[in-house]
Amino acid sequence: MTLATSNPLLQPWNTPYGLPPFEHVRAEHFEPAFEEALKQQRAEIDAIGANPEPATFDNTLAALDRSGRLLDRVGELFHNLTSSETSPALQTVQLRMAPLLAAHHSAIHMHKALFERIDALYERRERLGLTPEEKRVLERFHFDFVRAGAKLGPAEQTRYAQIMERLAELTTRFGQNVLADESAFQLVLRNDADAAGLPDFVRAAARQAASERGIPDAMVITLSRSHIVPFLTFSDRRDLREQAYRAWTGRGEHPGEHDNRPIAREILRLRNEQARLHGYASYADYALADTMAGRQSAVTGLLAQVWEPAKARAAEEREALQALALSRGDTAKLEAWDWRYYAEKVRQVRYELDEATVKPYFALDRMVEAVFDCAQRLFGLRFVEQPDIKAYHPDVKVYAVHDAARGEGGDSPIGIFLHDNFARTSKRSGAWMSSLRSQSRNAAADGAGVTPVILNNNNFAKGAPGEPTLLSFDDASTLFHEFGHGLHGLLSNVTYERVSGTNVLRDFVELPSQLFEHWLAETQVLKRHARHYLTGEAIPDALVEKLKAARLFNQGFETVRYTASALVDMAAHALTDADVPDVVEFERAELAGIGAPDDVGMNHRLTHFQHLFSGSSYAAGYYVYLWAEVLDADGYEAFVEAGNPFDAAVAARLRRFIYSSGNSIEPSQAYREFRGRAPTVEPMLKGRGLVAQPA
Ligand SMILES: [Zn+2]
Repeated sequence: MTLATSNPLLQPWNTPYGLPPFEHVRAEHFEPAFEEALKQQRAEIDAIGANPEPATFDNTLAALDRSGRLLDRVGELFHNLTSSETSPALQTVQLRMAPLLAAHHSAIHMHKALFERIDALYERRERLGLTPEEKRVLERFHFDFVRAGAKLGPAEQTRYAQIMERLAELTTRFGQNVLADESAFQLVLRNDADAAGLPDFVRAAARQAASERGIPDAMVITLSRSHIVPFLTFSDRRDLREQAYRAWTGRGEHPGEHDNRPIAREILRLRNEQARLHGYASYADYALADTMAGRQSAVTGLLAQVWEPAKARAAEEREALQALALSRGDTAKLEAWDWRYYAEKVRQVRYELDEATVKPYFALDRMVEAVFDCAQRLFGLRFVEQPDIKAYHPDVKVYAVHDAARGEGGDSPIGIFLHDNFARTSKRSGAWMSSLRSQSRNAAADGAGVTPVILNNNNFAKGAPGEPTLLSFDDASTLFHEFGHGLHGLLSNVTYERVSGTNVLRDFVELPSQLFEHWLAETQVLKRHARHYLTGEAIPDALVEKLKAARLFNQGFETVRYTASALVDMAAHALTDADVPDVVEFERAELAGIGAPDDVGMNHRLTHFQHLFSGSSYAAGYYVYLWAEVLDADGYEAFVEAGNPFDAAVAARLRRFIYSSGNSIEPSQAYREFRGRAPTVEPMLKGRGLVAQPA
């Protein structure tokens, strides 16, 4: 047999909806498939560069946009598997492929003949008679090439390619190290004394984790967020809380083969060199040049608007926690592993609200129905489960997505959605959206359409067999958040892949996701979908009122944790000196410099900050969540002003300019088209309780 007939990745995927042939793919298929895919794209690029005809949009940019489809298919499948269902064999391939893929990326972007054609078109861009989308595609590609080194001299290009290859290796290693530390840790609770204070839902999830790990008659707390956060919130055992907290915040900071300290340091040093080759003083300057914010002062200015008010709010919260601790005779100084515990006690007293009462109304299945229902009421989408289609893990559910507005004749879906909700040791932590295929109408020169295949990954602690998985309100918000990204991919309606779906500027990308969280907080959505898992009874009005009243509770703590992480990210990438300090020392000094309270902590410390160091898409970019929050808080007001959270006219503008336009429109303009004006910062500050309320 030849390679092409024995390797399922290289044969046509004659599967339902052209999904990957999941059950036939094995780790050893990837390297030969990548090899073939790189060769194919290289030939496609050479052919574009060697075309004797003068450069046109079609023979250069449309052709470039169409190139590398096999690499996309293989690469996206590989990326999804290494994130959600990895194995030692896949990790080995990942480490080997990372520098080769980076080298390929550099070779394309430094392809002289190709860039000369793009550059020539760019010079004449106003006179080419392009559509607005085509002009945008030309500008984006030109910018991509310049930013990847197309204009550097030969010696610089060689060094640049070396840097990119080494960075690809280091960022891969960084993510694998975090996963290794997460898989290595388990807090085993053997008896009632160990589990003191834990409500039933935490015990059930911990029993489930123990059984998955083959530990009989015990409970296991893992470093998955949906384990560790409830444990820190409820456990009466201060000693165990401290142990768990130290493990959680110490990820990536252990001497030995999984130590991320030297890796983060080398990444920062190489990024600095990368930026200087482009003539920027720091990586932050280089990264921000391709954002809505544009420069460091715009970012630090926004972060400064929330930092001091958030600290003041956290100080008020601390007083309440200390008073409560004292009333129970606890006189120890409040530490970071105590904050959530006492906060929950204060919340129970102040709002008569505890997680254990709330969760039975937020069964995962009901919340999945809720996101689908909101997508239907806003955009006319219908999600039809495909139980016969098997994905890469039995827990993954597959849906065909149908669109009422595009229901022409046949019943072909506008996209496919894969929902992968549960934590497992083969999956990295966090929650994210990804794709196996992006929407476009440029699959072939005849404009053949490609429907998107979109995934959402969460890390919810799975309920025991026969029991439903119950979410916290925060977990449910995460579900809505990722689903908002998912809609951004599914509703994409552009011609060229380069500007499709979530392929937008990174301080715009969190707008569709964060905006979608607002619908979960709508009373009518809660009354319809938040139903008790045993009785089916809708969430009582009184509980909805309490949830709303408690909305701002502990927001000082949350905002300080987030903003501290964003400030440290920006500071680390703003270094202009090639000599990068030890990252742990650096972080300590930065936190001291901004007066960060040590009993609050950070969302992510540098040694496990995967947003920054496992890939580069959020490097000097953790601020984007707050930036997008200005947009989503202001944007949701459009529905409030219309007096209806599903107002058809507002939803239609939202779909057209935000969810389906990808990067085909400049983002500030897209926002103005949707909203009728530029955004204002006040709704965000109000939403976080950071402005003085009128007395
Ligand atoms: Zn997001």
